[in-house]
Amino acid sequence: CINFLTLTNKKHIIYLKHAESEINMKLSLVVPCYNEAENVRLFQDAVITAFHDCGYDYEIIYVNDGSKDATLHNLKKLFQEQKCPVKVISFSRNFGKEAGIYAGMEAASGDYISLIDADLQQQPEIVRDMVKILDEQPQYDVVAAYQDRRGEGKILSFFKKSFYRIINKLSDVTLKKDASDFRTFRRSVAESILNLSESHRFSKGIFAWVGYETCFIPYTACKRVAGVSKWNFWKLLNYATEGIVGYSTKPLRMATFLGGMTSFSAFIYLIIVILQKLISGIDIPGYATIIVLILFLGGMQLLCIGIIGEYVGKTFEQSKNRPIYITKEYLNYESEK
Ligand code: UDP
Ligand code: MG
Repeated sequence: CINFLTLTNKKHIIYLKHAESEINMKLSLVVPCYNEAENVRLFQDAVITAFHDCGYDYEIIYVNDGSKDATLHNLKKLFQEQKCPVKVISFSRNFGKEAGIYAGMEAASGDYISLIDADLQQQPEIVRDMVKILDEQPQYDVVAAYQDRRGEGKILSFFKKSFYRIINKLSDVTLKKDASDFRTFRRSVAESILNLSESHRFSKGIFAWVGYETCFIPYTACKRVAGVSKWNFWKLLNYATEGIVGYSTKPLRMATFLGGMTSFSAFIYLIIVILQKLISGIDIPGYATIIVLILFLGGMQLLCIGIIGEYVGKTFEQSKNRPIYITKEYLNYESEK
């Protein structure tokens, strides 16, 4: 069992691990798994079928993200069988898919690294196409799949569209609409991503931030084979906030402008009130106005404090410098040899 995070210099780990790896794999499939007990074997069978005549070596790196069902048990079985080279990293608790991706990439020894879900919504055959593109078109470093048809409801679709519009307006990086984490990239890209060790990870933003030439290919997500999606509306909303706060400080500036504009309007109104009183002697009947203004200004202040709080919170989290994940168990076919 190796706990990588007892070492502090992550860059050092990447090179160290690569140098230690005796087998030179062409492709590493990184598969984050959270409560996917019924899916992992089906997933592996699908991968073996899709790659049986590919003519190159590949490995599967499963990351058990603190599953509460029999996922780890089933992954251990797959590891023992070694129908194809398998590594299993098991976290001490649920750290989230982003942490799973990070850990999987650290353990990858392939020249190409592919991120794919365990629920077979993303077909392994597409990974073969991605590898082919990287082989044949050296100008590309990343092949990313985006969903051409979405099976979700209109409301969710509207919110997702709005999210992309807002984040692309606010942040310095441009996110491709509907692009998922389902992608294959060269080792150099993985090393660049691993060097970004922020604790609040928003992979869509990270991929856009590191740059590299990306080829986008369409795909249609299949239905989940078994189990349920771990996302709901509130989780998506949190994820979207994470993305906006993580990739832009413009909301802070907007809060400043908002405060400035409100103060300016209040000042103008004050002059009007004084003039009305002095010139025409009108008493201002103001109960309703005062209530509305108090509520409006109170709401604005809370909103602005909330925005600042988001950033302070993120700074606080990052200043603790905690590891992105903790490995409880690491099964590696390379160390079995
Ligand atoms: N996942 C994970 N940790 C989590 C949530 C999800 O490793 O905390 C994995 C999950 O097992 C799956 C992938 O991330 O392999 C995508 O999750 P899901 O299918 O729930 O997302 P969706 O496809 O609905 O967007
Ligand atoms: Mg899914």
